[in-house]
Amino acid sequence: MKPTDDEEIRREFWVRQGRQLLAIALALFLVLLMAVVYKRHDLFGEYSKKTLMAAQLLVITAFIGFTAFNWRCPSCKKYLGKDIYKRACRHCKTRFR
Ligand SMILES: [Zn+2]
Repeated sequence: MKPTDDEEIRREFWVRQGRQLLAIALALFLVLLMAVVYKRHDLFGEYSKKTLMAAQLLVITAFIGFTAFNWRCPSCKKYLGKDIYKRACRHCKTRFR
């Protein structure tokens, strides 16, 4: 399995993109869930605003940490930037599709 193999790089990018989309969905879901928990004391019981804000901060920090680890070019390992539907790496010009 050579890291320079085009097919392998496309597949690796596809896996990373899938994980990234999942992480975005999960982070959004958790942050929204906490907002709902805060608004609906009747359903979820009392949580202090501080607790929920700390939990949201934790989710966001975990998401940023995961992104820094996951969202990298499979070829040159540099950070890929904001665009999730990238066509190519702007550092090494490797094409992903
Ligand atoms: Zn690259």
